[in-house]
Amino acid sequence: MKTAFIYTDAYLDYDYGPAHPLQITRLKLTYDLIKGYGLLDLPSVEFIPTVKAEEKDLAVFHGEEYLNILKQANEGHFVGDAYLYGLGPGDNPIFPGLFDWSLLLAGATLQAIDFIVSGKGEVAFNIAGGLHHAMRSRASGFCYINDPVIGIMKLLSRGKRVAYIDIDAHHGDGVQKAFYESNRVLTISLHESGGTLFPGTGFECEIGEGEGEGYSVNLPFPPYTDDEVYVWTFEEVVPELIHAFRPDVVVTQLGVDTFHDDPLTNLDLSILGYERVLKGIKELALRWVALGGGGYNISNVARAWTLAWAIMNGIELREELPEAFLEKAVKMGIEEKELRGRLRTPLQSQSRENKAEMERVVRYIKETVLPKVKS
Ligand SMILES: [Zn+2]
Repeated sequence: MKTAFIYTDAYLDYDYGPAHPLQITRLKLTYDLIKGYGLLDLPSVEFIPTVKAEEKDLAVFHGEEYLNILKQANEGHFVGDAYLYGLGPGDNPIFPGLFDWSLLLAGATLQAIDFIVSGKGEVAFNIAGGLHHAMRSRASGFCYINDPVIGIMKLLSRGKRVAYIDIDAHHGDGVQKAFYESNRVLTISLHESGGTLFPGTGFECEIGEGEGEGYSVNLPFPPYTDDEVYVWTFEEVVPELIHAFRPDVVVTQLGVDTFHDDPLTNLDLSILGYERVLKGIKELALRWVALGGGGYNISNVARAWTLAWAIMNGIELREELPEAFLEKAVKMGIEEKELRGRLRTPLQSQSRENKAEMERVVRYIKETVLPKVKS
């Protein structure tokens, strides 16, 4: 099996701003940890330096007017009607190089797709991708362009059937919306309920429309859902859905903002639950394009995506973090010395209630959605 890791230090040329939760340094930290463990030196691994996408690549999904606004905003100054397109102070700030940043991360996703479609290998990981909230003509939730949609559209143009699995704490709304009426893309999003978290969508009754009915699957978790309930829910429905659909390629958004100590969300997962789900995906995804996503505790991001990359390559890592990485991490205020960090026990008192809620959701999916999914 061959795998590809797509990355460039040029990501660090861009910055959402010092007070913004999305710190691009987390990508460098992840790269450093992966490299520190020697996971780019394996004979089966191809390291692919990121090459920017071209504007026409974004235009397959995004509107021309919106792309023009992004291009103008690339200077870092507020322009014309930018706020009408979701840009401005707050979630989607205008910063210098905003459009170049978008071209870079979308380029990496397209490189990951090319690696798989060309038959060079089976798994490719773009940690900078997974910006699942961007809409056709609107920035949303730190996302200016929707690289999962652009990548999936490329796969469709090559005649592939695609399953998209999104494990970010936030609903994968932009991707769901893009393929809501399609039966060639099965979207499955596991997320904190829209009742308590942005973007406020992703309820189980959102199942797709027209030909796409049954091909949008949502698993909304109550706040404080722990590893046990989360993994149980994943195992109850995701393998069965994938087996029913039989995709050519699986695209995943691997957000790490589901963890108990993520500053923006309210789920209660640990890296152990994340690991179980990643191993589950590995068994299901014979051809796998893995994208990054959210995650606002940078220690969690680096350790979880390193673990994910190890799983993609079938490698067991030692628990002690590499010395060179630790020296750097300490200076950034990171306390964890071990890959999986300090283990913790789930909040049992919440667990029973959450299990009952997810049993209801799972029953709904099995009775109402699964029978509609065909290969
Ligand atoms: Zn998120």
